[in-house]
Amino acid sequence: MAHRIHRGVGQQAALRGAARLTRGSAAVALVAIGALGLRSLDPAPQPAGPRWYKGNTHTHTLNSDGDSHPDDVVKWYRAHGYHFVVLTDHNVLTSVQGLNALHGLDGSFLVVRGEEVTDRFGERPLHINALEPSRLVRPQGGGSAVEVVQRDVDAIRAAGGVPSINHPSFGWALSADELAQVRNTRLFEVFNGHPMVNNAGGGGKPSLEAMWDTILSRGVLLYGQAVDDAHHFKRHDDRTASRPGQGWIHVRADSLSPRHLLEAMERGDFYSSTGVELSELKATTAEVTVAVKATTYSKYTIQFVGRGGRVLAEVQEPRATYRPRGDEGYVRARILESNGDMAWTQPVILP
Ligand SMILES: [Zn+2]
Ligand SMILES: [Zn+2]
Repeated sequence: MAHRIHRGVGQQAALRGAARLTRGSAAVALVAIGALGLRSLDPAPQPAGPRWYKGNTHTHTLNSDGDSHPDDVVKWYRAHGYHFVVLTDHNVLTSVQGLNALHGLDGSFLVVRGEEVTDRFGERPLHINALEPSRLVRPQGGGSAVEVVQRDVDAIRAAGGVPSINHPSFGWALSADELAQVRNTRLFEVFNGHPMVNNAGGGGKPSLEAMWDTILSRGVLLYGQAVDDAHHFKRHDDRTASRPGQGWIHVRADSLSPRHLLEAMERGDFYSSTGVELSELKATTAEVTVAVKATTYSKYTIQFVGRGGRVLAEVQEPRATYRPRGDEGYVRARILESNGDMAWTQPVILP
């Protein structure tokens, strides 16, 4: 990163020099033109205050069971308009320093360190992401599914990382009742792009979103993330592959740094998406307002959801406001797009 900053300063100096130039030589003029050309690669100056960053917090590489080198994985996310990606290989903590030196760009793109702590209880796979831990976290095991998850969550916290409970219905690993018992964590996956994780439920099992409402209705605050869990970057035409670009989050953070991104995630200042982008999001105990960046070909339905998963209001427009009465328990919004894309905002707990 250091050489990039240096280059940027150098360009600014060259530009200032060019501006002062009244009768410069051809060589100096060429330097100025070169500087102007390079300048367009730099990010535009950003206004102060928080902004939205798009990212995926769950991805695999050749360092575990992915099919691509970390370098290619990072390049995929940068080339597809993401601001950040977390590399989360199974029980491997991939160094991101070199990747950021090659692909990182201040304020525009960041690779965040991560690990998918990959544990189990009997046949039940229990996977918990460690976001930005200071060291590798080994699976802790335990005497029940809840105890395994709790011990892994606590080990992730002890390593300075932020835990997120992954794909609860992969292998039908965790029930809503079990998930609600885990403490010391705020994040779980309400959507995972892997084709075998049973997001939608069925056959007597609840969807992840229904589980979320069950947990929130018990007064346990969890925020729901949408993620790729991408393993396969070379099997574009294979629907059984876990491909990138399926689910992501938009985080409202003070800067594109691991600390600011993770702080925003843990206070619920983000929304999750499988294709719907928002132009406005306000979520307070007095008002929840959602506006969609509408496409020309889509229609939208916005639902506000409260205790027990009850739909409190439904609006057939790309913008809607809900003003809580105070007895709803919590309010969150779900946005449905006419081709099946969705977005989920995070719950506001009512006092
Ligand atoms: Zn997993
Ligand atoms: Zn995974």
